[in-house]
Amino acid sequence: MTEFELIARYFEKPAKRLHHRARLGIGDDCALLAPRAGHELAISTDMLVAGRHFFEKVDPASLGWKTLAVNLSDLAAMGARPLAFTLAIALPAIDEAWLAAFAEGLFGCATEFGCELVGGDTTRGPLNLCVTVFGEVPEGRALRRAAALVGDDVWVSGTLGGAALALQRSTTASTTLRVKLERPIPRLRLGEALVAVAHAAIDVSDGLAQDLGHVLAASDCGAELWLDAIPCQRELATEPEELRARFALAGGDDYELCFTAPVSQRAAVEHAGRTSDSAVTRIGTILERRGLRVLATQGADSRSVAPEWLAGFDHFR
Ligand code: ADP
Ligand code: MG
Repeated sequence: MTEFELIARYFEKPAKRLHHRARLGIGDDCALLAPRAGHELAISTDMLVAGRHFFEKVDPASLGWKTLAVNLSDLAAMGARPLAFTLAIALPAIDEAWLAAFAEGLFGCATEFGCELVGGDTTRGPLNLCVTVFGEVPEGRALRRAAALVGDDVWVSGTLGGAALALQRSTTASTTLRVKLERPIPRLRLGEALVAVAHAAIDVSDGLAQDLGHVLAASDCGAELWLDAIPCQRELATEPEELRARFALAGGDDYELCFTAPVSQRAAVEHAGRTSDSAVTRIGTILERRGLRVLATQGADSRSVAPEWLAGFDHFR
């Protein structure tokens, strides 16, 4: 099979079955996108490297799903709606069973969230997947990291710690738990619903404390979180406090949204959660004093949790 047959069979043909939001898709030197009037293009790239982000032997259908889902999560965190994506893929060899399963997972995610494959690049090399997503967001309304304000509530969607627990339990993890790790759901509808309501947002890919830390640094403020308010994956409830805290605060790969919104918007945030089928939980508050403090519970006399429970994922640490 040649490079071009491979592209045609596993990527171009299934892409043609999707909706067509792009002016021009796969097959030319460039794809052409036309965002609606009054909108900005939101663009994000994520690379998944075998042995680093996933095990070489992982189920290829799940890998296909996750490759796109983690990119869509970045669009969700800006409040953007997906338009299209490109896929650059390096493969050690042509394995048709692997490619068919990978494409099935990839296009399953693309179909579910309305994102069309419009181009890419295919080469031989160590297994490596790089997706760039393009979305649109109402002009000037994107949920930026720098937009948190003192006095805002801090919220998080869904539950945290499930993906980290699935990774720890590995082959003994239940199916529901494994799905959390292997088939994350990008919170796109919630992100869009928050555009008119929230201030800052980020998706939780490297751990809540670390990712919220990016928001605090960009917004030049601090925050206080209440550990007992943070929604944990159900299976964590029976684990010791330290493990529960570490997984909820520093476990990566959950792809939930952490966002800030003014106190006056509490009802609107709850409404956004309901209309987008995402649980939303208020877990803290934005403070003027810099840094992140996590208290066991809300209240002036509550103890802070150990700072080493907050350290999230870092590729170079
Ligand atoms: P070029 O030589 O102009 O870079 P290529 O020969 O690499 O083009 O690719 C031909 C067409 O196939 C282009 O439209 C490109 O975007 C698309 N393409 C290549 N690889 C992929 C892929 N993995 N997924 C989707 N489209 C791809
Ligand atoms: Mg090329």
